[in-house]
Order: sequence, then structure tokens, then C-alpha cells
Amino acid sequence: MAIDAETLEEQPEPAAGDAVLEIRNLEVTFKTEDGMVSAVRGLDLDVRADEVLGIVGESGSGKSVSMLAVLGLLPPTATITGSAKFRGLELIGRKQKELQPIRGAKIAMIFQDPLTALNPVHRVGVQIIEAIKAHNPDMSNRDAYNRALELLELVGIPRPRVRIDQYPHEYSGGMRQRAMIAMMMANDPDVLIADEPTTALDVTIQAQILELVKNVQERTHTAVVFITHDLGVIARIADRVQVMYAGRTAEVGDVETLFSGSKHPYTRGLLSSLPALAGRTGKLQPIAGAPPSMLHPPPGCAFHPRCPMAQVLCTQEQPPLRAIGAPQQLSACHFADQVPDTRPGT
Ligand code: SF4
Repeated sequence: MAIDAETLEEQPEPAAGDAVLEIRNLEVTFKTEDGMVSAVRGLDLDVRADEVLGIVGESGSGKSVSMLAVLGLLPPTATITGSAKFRGLELIGRKQKELQPIRGAKIAMIFQDPLTALNPVHRVGVQIIEAIKAHNPDMSNRDAYNRALELLELVGIPRPRVRIDQYPHEYSGGMRQRAMIAMMMANDPDVLIADEPTTALDVTIQAQILELVKNVQERTHTAVVFITHDLGVIARIADRVQVMYAGRTAEVGDVETLFSGSKHPYTRGLLSSLPALAGRTGKLQPIAGAPPSMLHPPPGCAFHPRCPMAQVLCTQEQPPLRAIGAPQQLSACHFADQVPDTRPGT
């Protein structure tokens, strides 16, 4: 089925809790001078309406690449297979032209550094109006201007009537990220993907932006995918968490379950290296070693060279993602039932 504005209108609205984006067996491989890099290796992921899904993992775990693949934003050196359905419409294998009505309007993405996304030679208001009119060409200039003001207010920009006429360099780092969020919310997307949007900001501003994303989600009911390497950020913003390692899912569950009853040694390692959860001794326990090269990922469970619970089976067989622990909790570990049931350090 072709994707156009009419087709999108005809798709049934998902109810709260239904999957608005369903990814199945997604594989992304890059051709490089050194060989084939397997960045994403059979990812299954659901983004449900009206939720904040946190995707967490170290650099190179495939969390950003998988979202860029879904939106058709990877370079031609990438080979993408599998399925990603937005409200039932397949996105993988679509031509760029077919993805245009979806990108920005239905699925929007905020990046880490707003300076690279905002054009420095255009006023912020002009850029927001452009985003609004790209998907609403018949909207009058007056209505688009008023909508831009509304969006600046929504994201807490002070004196929006003044700020709308300023250039990005006249905004602070936190305000630029707010302006980016305003631009991405311009067309009331069904899914907002936030890719490490607070990493470049200092801690105080980071807290404000997290609060803002949460507020915007609660007011608009947009599903949010929040990508981060920081479980502390996840604890503050997410309803559910998907932990990724070496291009695969390690564990999935709601945020309380994963923080209090994780059933995967990698998630437990991430938790042990969090200052707030380091336990009574206050000692941080970093995960030994480094993430694997995706040119030659380890056989079996890719985490086995770093895993304190690894056994021979782990070096031979890839563990399937299976239900264990709390309802809707899934873990890809052969020995998930042997992972202790308490928080590290307690
Ligand atoms: Fe560790 Fe083995 Fe579980 Fe992988 S499958 S996380 S190596 S115990």
C-alpha cells in the first residue's frame, strides 16, 4: 500500500497501550573498508501509544541506528532488512518520497545537538513556521505564526513574541533544545524520538529538558522514545525500558521492574555503575571490559566476555528473548532465573 496523506488519515488511531510503531527482526549492516559491521541484529521493539519508552545501552549498541533505519535516514552503505510498521504501514523498503509524509509529521526526531539541526542564518520562528507549513501547505501565514507562538509557549520559552524573531545564536543551549522540541511538535506527531537530547547540556538544564519532555508528553499524549546511555535519565522519564547490547535486546520491562528486579546481568551491571544505586558502600562497580566490535561480534551471547555469570553455554548459543520475572518483563539470558532478585548493594 502506498503511503500518502490520504492513507495515513485512513489508518485507525491506536488506543492507549496499543503499539503505534512495531519493529520486528530488524537487521542493519554497514559495508565498510574493514568488512561488514552488524549494527542491529534482529531487533524486536514496540512503541505504545501514550508512553515514554526508554532505550538504553552503551555506544554502539544499535539504539540510534535502529531508529534512523526506521525513518530511512541511514546512508546508502547500510543494508536494512526486517519490518517496522507505523500504525500498520510498513516503512522498511520505502522510497524517500513515500517516507516524507511520515517523517516530521507523524514520527519526529530530536537530536543531541540542536545547533546542528537549527539553521544559524534563519530566525527560530521562521524555522518553526517552515516545519508547520511543510506538512500544512494550505495554512495561512498568520495561522502558522500563531501556531509557532503556541509551540514556543508549550516548551516554556519566555517572551515568545520577542524570541520568535531571534536567531539560534541568541538562544542559550537549553533554549535551543526547547526550540527544537517546539519544531518537532509542530505537527502533533504520533511518535517523538529523542536521541540523547540532554547529553550536551549541563545538569540543571538537563533536568529542565527532561521535565519538559515529560510535560509535553502528558499534555499531547504523543508516544516518546527516549534514547540514552544513562539509566539515571531513564528512571526520571520512562514508563518502560528496553536495554540494548551489541545490536540486540538484552532486557525489556517497566521501569520499576527493571530497577528493582532486573533479570539480566548487563542491566544489573548498568545499575551497579549508577552513583544513586551504588549501595551502602557508595562504591561504583563498572562493567569490566568494553563493548565488542560489531565487525566481529562474539559468538553466543555477545555479553559473555564481560559477564560475571557467563558459563560455557553462553559462548556457544545465543540466548532467546523470553518472558521471565514480572508481567511483560523479557530477558535474553540463558541464566535469567539465577540473577539475584534484589537491587545491587542492598
Ligand atoms: Fe551472561 Fe550468559 Fe546471561 Fe549472556 S547468557 S548475560 S553471558 S549469563
